Amino acid sequence: MSSPSTRSGAGPPPAADRRPGPSRRGAGAPVTHLAFQAGSRFDRPVEVEADYVVVGTGAGGAAAAVVLARGGASVAMVEAGPWRDPADYPASMWGTLRDMMDGWGVNLAIGRALWPIVQARLVGGTTVINSAIAIRTPGEVVREWRDDHGFPDSDALAAAIWRHQDAIEAELHVSPTPRASAGRSNDLAARAGAALDLNDHAMHRAIRDCAGSGACMQGCKHDRKRSTNVTWVPEALAAGATLLSCAPVARVELRGRRAVGVRGAFVHPTDQRRGKRFVVRARKAVVIAASATHSPALLHRSGIRSRALGRHFRAHPGVGVFGVYDTPVDMNSGATQGWSSTALRATKGLKLETLAIPLELVASRLGGAGSQLIGRLGDYRHLAMWAVAVRAEAVGRVVTTPTGKPVVFYDIGRRDMERLRDGAHVIAQMHAAAGARAILPGVFGLPYSLAPDELGKLAAGPTDPRAWTAIMTHLFGGCVMGADPRRAVCDPRGRVHGYDGLVVADASALPTTLGVNPQHTIMALARVRAEELLAA
Ligand SMILES: Cc1cc2nc3c(=O)[nH]c(=O)nc-3n(C[C@H](O)[C@H](O)[C@H](O)COP(=O)(O)OP(=O)(O)OC[C@H]3O[C@@H](n4cnc5c(N)ncnc54)[C@H](O)[C@@H]3O)c2cc1C
Ligand code: SF4
Repeated sequence: MSSPSTRSGAGPPPAADRRPGPSRRGAGAPVTHLAFQAGSRFDRPVEVEADYVVVGTGAGGAAAAVVLARGGASVAMVEAGPWRDPADYPASMWGTLRDMMDGWGVNLAIGRALWPIVQARLVGGTTVINSAIAIRTPGEVVREWRDDHGFPDSDALAAAIWRHQDAIEAELHVSPTPRASAGRSNDLAARAGAALDLNDHAMHRAIRDCAGSGACMQGCKHDRKRSTNVTWVPEALAAGATLLSCAPVARVELRGRRAVGVRGAFVHPTDQRRGKRFVVRARKAVVIAASATHSPALLHRSGIRSRALGRHFRAHPGVGVFGVYDTPVDMNSGATQGWSSTALRATKGLKLETLAIPLELVASRLGGAGSQLIGRLGDYRHLAMWAVAVRAEAVGRVVTTPTGKPVVFYDIGRRDMERLRDGAHVIAQMHAAAGARAILPGVFGLPYSLAPDELGKLAAGPTDPRAWTAIMTHLFGGCVMGADPRRAVCDPRGRVHGYDGLVVADASALPTTLGVNPQHTIMALARVRAEELLAA
């Protein structure tokens, strides 16, 4: 296979990232990582050429890139956000929102309620800020893809996904959360799970030797989490790939109906200054993996014609419920998400999990102001947060604004809300079973604090989504796969209907929700896509 060639308009690039990434691949060979480069729109653009151009380096993009690079292909990874080493991750949640999140973590799904959509924007994508939970793709989901979306050979696809999940589990050290690093919040949840017969288990996560700092959402400063910025992206670079960071792709370049590359301009990671333009040419294919919101917007900006583009957006909205305990829980001392129950997955589409969040987010979730908030925060060390996410039936839409930005419209219905409320009630019952003295439901219209014998109020609580502080972290669709081009952007192999050399390999391609945490499926499917490209 041919090697990538790079050509910069004016001498060596001054990297503005805090770190330019790993500096060597083998003895003496420089790694090709082009970060922000100052320039004007009149300068000659930075030009790169490779067999495959992969847009985005999160769960889908990095998985596809590393398999392509291992297969001997030349690969250029183009990532909107900057490179950050674990030692450089910000110390505060404020810094995390500023430096690592897409849109400061406050992009909103617009509907009856305004719920935040959380995604990351840096090398490694959302794998940097997630909890590294790795749950295998349920067989019934792939059968749904066959029955409802025309996937031709679902058994072979499921087998390929699981084969890659075997490999991913070995490569990324997926293992159950060890007792030693679980911490008290997870221990209490395990006690409640046993008491309520919740078929619970220690969470399986892609983490090596978790230090139990309860801070996964801020990136693992201990470098224990196997996010793609510390695993597959460096491996792809070592295998000869090129990385452009701080490089949001503006559009896919088309020659007729064939994708031949991407273009955009570097953006400074802190002051957002626009830098030099770049053009990355693809000799064989462009792989889109910019996330469930950004991939549809990118295809829109590129003039891709598909009736289904931006449609079929789905999610697992989640809510957290605090328990207040007599003795300190210290939820940020222990695994961020070390416990899970699947007892209600088949019957209600609910997933129960522990979740440690930082003090700043606790403050925003407790509500109140001034001395009232200070008083509430006095309980901080005694709080445990456990969460429920629902496999929602609601279907939304990603619309691209005239300036090219994605906006999500998403309205959740009553049936989904009833299930979410049921899940929150189960979480509250768990807190009661674990010995909490009070439960803080966080639902408008209910008391701030409920005694364990008052949980019926939560069970009968409001189903208006505006009353709930939910969050959307598991996103699906926007460029969905399916056999029918009127209903799907891509065919069941991720190839954009009606175009050549254009493949989608991220959450946006998933035609349904999964009912389980998505990264394992996204990674495995992206690797399947890469194998198919190599074999083509
Ligand atoms: C707080 C949180 C916790 C989570 N915990 C878990 C968990 O424990 N387990 C799990 O399975 N899932 C978890 N998830 C969800 C999971 O991380 C995502 O489903 C997954 O990362 C999505 O993969 P992706 O490749 O579609 O997008 P991402 O991983 O978000 O990657 C997309 C990448 O594309 C880049 N990009 C965007 N636009 C452009 C552009 N125009 N040009 C170039 N690059 C671009 C972005 O910067 C980003 O790096 C969590 C999510 C959040 C927010
Ligand atoms: S809990 Fe802490 S040590 Fe463990 S992976 Fe998350 S951030 Fe790293």
